[in-house]
Amino acid sequence: MYGTEQIISGTIIAGPELVPIEGYICIRNGIITEVVEERTYSKNIIAPCFVNAHTHLGDSVCKDPAMGKVSGFRVQRDLDSLVKPPDGLKHRILSETPYKILVEHIRRSLLDMIETGTCAFADFREGGVVGVAALNKALEGLELHSLIFGRPAEPHLPLEVVLAEVRRVLLHSDGLGMSGANDLEMGLLKEVTAYTRDRNKLFAIHAGEKDRSDIEKALSLEPDLLIHLTQATKKDLDEVAQAKVPVVVCPRSNFVTGVGMAPIAEMLEAGIQVAAGTDNVMLNSVNMFAEMEFMSKIFSIDDRQVFKICTLNGSFVMGPDSTGSIIEKGNKTNIMILNGSSNNLEGIQDPICGITKRARPDDILAVLHS
Ligand SMILES: [Zn+2]
Repeated sequence: MYGTEQIISGTIIAGPELVPIEGYICIRNGIITEVVEERTYSKNIIAPCFVNAHTHLGDSVCKDPAMGKVSGFRVQRDLDSLVKPPDGLKHRILSETPYKILVEHIRRSLLDMIETGTCAFADFREGGVVGVAALNKALEGLELHSLIFGRPAEPHLPLEVVLAEVRRVLLHSDGLGMSGANDLEMGLLKEVTAYTRDRNKLFAIHAGEKDRSDIEKALSLEPDLLIHLTQATKKDLDEVAQAKVPVVVCPRSNFVTGVGMAPIAEMLEAGIQVAAGTDNVMLNSVNMFAEMEFMSKIFSIDDRQVFKICTLNGSFVMGPDSTGSIIEKGNKTNIMILNGSSNNLEGIQDPICGITKRARPDDILAVLHS
C-alpha cells in the first residue's frame, strides 16, 4: 500500500467515539488523509482493528490440553495443574520445547492475529531472555504493533543474579510482566520494579484473578498495567482509578478458569481505562471477535463500549505517541474492512451492534496495518 493512494468507501466507524458515518476514506503512505461523509452504495464496513491487550503466546505450543479428569459425561477441571508455575503442564511443555518449534508456533498465533483483524498486542512472555528472543524472532517481518513484557526465568536465585537477568530481558522487551504479587517475595518484586522503572521500561502484573488478596500489593508497586481484577471490590477499583492504571480484562479466560466475571461495568463507571485480551493461547484462540461476542452477551455492557474495549481502549499498546487505531484524518491506518453483505452480516441495522454481537473473521475482506 505504500506510495499509492487508496480510496475505500462504506460505513466508517469513525473517530474516538466510534460514530458510524457513510462515506469514504483516503489512505496515502499508510496515513488516513481524508475521512469524507457522503452517500455511498458500498456495504463495506470500515472499522478500527482490534488490540489484543493481554496474551501468553508461548502457550501456542499446547493448544488443546485436557482440562481435567473425565468421569462419565463430566470433566473435573483442574486448571492449576495446567498453568500454575513452575510445574503446571504449560511450564513443563515450555521447558521441553525446542526454541525453533516455539518460534514457529508463536508465529502461527501472530499470523492468526493478523488474519482475525488484530493490529497490536501485549504479551506476557515467560522463559526469561530466551523467551523474549523467541517472540522477537517470530515477529520478524510482520506488521503488528507489540508490547513485550518479559520476566526472569529463575526468580528464586540470588537477587543480583535475578537483576542481571532482568537487565538482559529489558534490553529486548518493553518491560516486565510478572505473574502476581502473591507468587514472589514483595521485597524481590519491589527491587525488580524499581530496576525496571529506572530503565524507563513498563511494569505490568496480574492481580485479583482468583481472589483479591494480591490487589493492594500489586498497586503498591505502582504498575503501568494490571491484568484481570476479576475479584476487585468497588474500593479496589476506586484506588486503581485514582492511580490511573489501565486494566486488561480477559472474560473468556476467566470463564475457563472458573474465577468468575470481572466487574467491567463498575470499572468503566470508576473511570478506569479498560482493554481486553484473550490471555493464554492454551485456553483461548487469539480471535478477538470471539472475545467481543462473549463480552457483549455475558456482561450487560453497551455494545459501543464493548467494541471500544476491544479496539481503541488498548491504544497504550500502540506506543505513547500513537492515537491507536482511531479512524481519523492524520492517523496511521490500522483498519479492517468487513463485508456488510456477507451471509452473516447482511441486513444488520446498527453496524456497531452488528459487528460486536455477530461478526466473524470470515466477514473480513481486508486488514490494513501501518
Ligand atoms: Zn495472563
